[in-house]
Amino acid sequence: MAAIGPGQGMVLDDFRLNGRVAIVTGCNTGLGQGMARALAEAGADIVGVNVSEPDDTRQQIEATGRRFLDLRANLADIACLDDLIGQALSLRGRIDILVNNAGIIRREDAIKFTEKDWDDVIDLNLKSVFFFAQAAARQFMAQGGGGKIINVASMLSFQGGVRVPSYTASKSGVVGITRLMANEWAGHGINVNAIAPGYMATNNTAALRADTGRNAAILERIPAGRWGVPEDLAGPVVFLASKASDYVHGYTVAVDGGWLAR
Ligand code: NAD
Repeated sequence: MAAIGPGQGMVLDDFRLNGRVAIVTGCNTGLGQGMARALAEAGADIVGVNVSEPDDTRQQIEATGRRFLDLRANLADIACLDDLIGQALSLRGRIDILVNNAGIIRREDAIKFTEKDWDDVIDLNLKSVFFFAQAAARQFMAQGGGGKIINVASMLSFQGGVRVPSYTASKSGVVGITRLMANEWAGHGINVNAIAPGYMATNNTAALRADTGRNAAILERIPAGRWGVPEDLAGPVVFLASKASDYVHGYTVAVDGGWLAR
């Protein structure tokens, strides 16, 4: 038997996603774009579900040699979900991975918070996450062979936050339903896990970073001493999407520069 050379160990093969299809929601920018690129680099074809043009993402995915299917939908309305699964099947006739990344935030004092700011955030960040996972799990069960669902949580899955009541509710809920779905579907070979990004430099946090006082306070509290970037999610998302995580169920991995450790 030939000796295994450096970097040729079998465990690395467990991380490869060649021949797999990953749906990534909200991948035209930010963390979703970074995760879509990482999954493609690991070998997966990508189905992007976006409200707006994902031109840049298509370019990045195709540069890795993988295919990109561009689907448009407003995920705040769950009526589109079954149809999205149907369209995603046109790529390879199966789906292996769902990354529920699309999310929004509304900032306002709790005392003034409106029902609209509550419903808009909960509809996208929580309701749609559950029902897209349900639609994907039905497909995984129908096709056989299990599947991987990765939800995007937050530091506000663990902490209360300030001036973001519906966001905190939605992201706390994401961790709960991640556990629930894992409990019900682990026996079907479906892994449901979440990633909780820390403070990441994206559009979502542009206002925070522009506020000099808040920016300094946040940086001072992050043990790693910097904001995260989309590339920081590459390793964790590939791990959770791959065979390497087959016995990891219902867990939320923080990728936060140590924020929660303080
Ligand atoms: P972003 O604003 O750059 O990206 C959000 C994505 O969601 C975009 O692709 C946007 O088009 C999509 N989206 C918004 N509304 C949609 C809708 N109705 N239907 C479909 N897609 C829609 O933000 P980001 O920072 O990249 O956030 C990505 C995820 O990470 C979100 O769930 C966010 O809550 C979460 N998150 C971000 C941070 C951070 O510090 N940036 C931290 C923790 C968690």
